[in-house]
Amino acid sequence: MFVLKIGGSAGIDYDLIADDIARLTQEGQQMIVVHGGSALTNEVATALGHPPQFVTSVSGFSSRRTDRRTIEIFEMVYCGQMNKGLVEKLQARGVNAIGLSGLDGRLWEGKRKSVIKIVEKGRRRVIRNDYTGKVEKVNTALLNTLLLAGYLPLLTPPAISYESEAINVDGDRAAAATAIAMEADTLVILSNVPGLLKNFPDESSLIRHIPAQKLDTFMDVAQDRMKKKVMGAQEALAGGLKRIIFADGRVENPIQRALAGEGTVIEVSAGF
Ligand code: ADP
Repeated sequence: MFVLKIGGSAGIDYDLIADDIARLTQEGQQMIVVHGGSALTNEVATALGHPPQFVTSVSGFSSRRTDRRTIEIFEMVYCGQMNKGLVEKLQARGVNAIGLSGLDGRLWEGKRKSVIKIVEKGRRRVIRNDYTGKVEKVNTALLNTLLLAGYLPLLTPPAISYESEAINVDGDRAAAATAIAMEADTLVILSNVPGLLKNFPDESSLIRHIPAQKLDTFMDVAQDRMKKKVMGAQEALAGGLKRIIFADGRVENPIQRALAGEGTVIEVSAGF
C-alpha cells in the first residue's frame, strides 16, 4: 500500500495520472490518493472578486491566508471541481474511486490555528480569524473500511478542527499524516517539477537521491512552496515511512516512473 499525492499546480496532467492509477489498480496495487487544487483555487477566487493572498510565517513558510470566504471558495474547488473531476476520470477508467474531504466522517482532524504570526515587509504581524491548521488524527477505520470494500479513496483538504470547523491544511503534510497512520511504506508526491531541483527552475539540476538522515540539509534548497513538501517528507520519515519520492506529474506513467526511482528519492538506507 502506498499513498499518492497529486499536486494542484498548473501543468500537472490528470489524464496521464488517472491512466496510471487505473493500470496499477488493475495489477492489484492498493493506494490512497490525496490531491490539491491551488492553481484553480487562485483562478476562481480572483474571478469571484476575492483574490488569493499569501502570507509568510515567521519561520519562513508561505501559506494561503484563509478567511471564511476563502474556505468557501476552497471547498468549491477542492471538494467540487477538482475532487469530482478526478473521481469522474477514474470511474471512466474502471476505478471505483470515492471522493472525500477531510471533513467527511472526520477523516482528517486537527487543531485550528486561529492566530498566525507572519512577516510582512520585514515586520512581524499577527493575523486573526484564519481557518488553517494541521492534521493530527486520521480516521483509519473509515479508510480501511473503504479499502476493504474495494474503493479507492480520493482525499482532499479541508480538514476538520476539534470544534468542527473546516480548516485549510497543507496537502503534502496531510498526505504524510495519512501515510503514517495507514502504515504505508512509500509516499509519492507528484508536482509540476521533476523533483527537488538544486537550482530551481533548472530542471537539469534534479537531485536524484537523498539519504533520509541528510534531508535536513536540503531544506535551504527548497524555496517557497517546495519547503512544505520537504517538511512533509521530514514528518513522514519521523513517522516511520521508508521512502518518499518527489516526481513529475506531467509525464506518461508518472507513478510507475516515480516508483521505479525517477525523481527525487528520499530513502532510509540499510543500517539506519
Ligand atoms: P503542488 O501544488 O503541485 O503540490 P507546489 O506548487 O505547492 O506544488 O510546489 C511545487 C513548486 O515549488 C514548484 O512548481 C516550484 O515552483 C516550487 N519550487 C521552489 N523551490 C523548488 C526547488 N528547489 N525544486 C523544485 N521546485 C521548487
